[in-house]
Amino acid sequence: DERALFAGLEKPQINFSDVGGMDAVKEEIRLKIIHPLQFPDLYKAYGKAAGGGLLLYGPPGCGKTHLARATAGEVQASFIHVGISDILDMWMGQSEKKLHELFELARMQAPCVLFFDEVDALAANRHDLRQSAGRTLINQFLEELDGARSSNDGVLILAATNAPWHLDPAFRRPGRFDRIVLVTPPDEPARVAILDVLLRGKPVADNLNLASVAGQTAGFSGADLKAVVDTAVESCLRESMKAGKALPVQQSSLTAATKQVRPSTKEW
Ligand code: ATP
Repeated sequence: DERALFAGLEKPQINFSDVGGMDAVKEEIRLKIIHPLQFPDLYKAYGKAAGGGLLLYGPPGCGKTHLARATAGEVQASFIHVGISDILDMWMGQSEKKLHELFELARMQAPCVLFFDEVDALAANRHDLRQSAGRTLINQFLEELDGARSSNDGVLILAATNAPWHLDPAFRRPGRFDRIVLVTPPDEPARVAILDVLLRGKPVADNLNLASVAGQTAGFSGADLKAVVDTAVESCLRESMKAGKALPVQQSSLTAATKQVRPSTKEW
């Protein structure tokens, strides 16, 4: 129904400064998604077609959704988050129609970032019993993608996958998802940047050494680091309530928290 369709529509208040690390991915998004929106005449003059989508590929929790949302905030666009496996269940039997309505909504809301999470689930659908239905849905998706390119300025398409090899090769044609960007687990400098973002605006000790925390968190994703900061902040809050005043987050709380959270990206 309408509500299910509109549930994912947001106006994000975050931008690239709220995303730690991921510099190469941000640059790719600027070139491929943001600049064509900001300088359409220039792109036209040089015969560079705007549009097409960007496919983000990498392990869960490394900021793909966060970055997509921040991309919308960066250009003050609306944001529609679409979890493919959720909607396939929800849209049972009328997926093509619903998918079309979703793109229509994005066109109406332009500028709009349309973000497809787990986009490989579309292709996985092909192998199930309703094989022909899956094929139709993929074709509909491709048609909408092409439509979004020609007739829909201001619809910025991002998708995320943990398994790009499941994706139908037709997705990869020029003007569709012709660019795949690898989103790796954050390296040490990126972990410093992420911790910095996560602690921003909170009372922290003057002598915090985030480089040291980053050194203790090899293999941690952005989401894992968020869990570390949340844990440290919670213990600090408990202490503060006892003390009756806001105590700053100490190095020791962060170090203790790193031992309570498991790194989730080891195998990557
Ligand atoms: P999935 O692949 O499962 O969609 P993801 O890669 O999209 O995961 P997010 O959901 O974006 O991961 O990350 C989870 C949370 O971790 C975010 O809401 C954000 O708070 C934090 N986070 C992750 N990466 C970063 C980052 N680079 N900078 C700041 N915060 C981050």
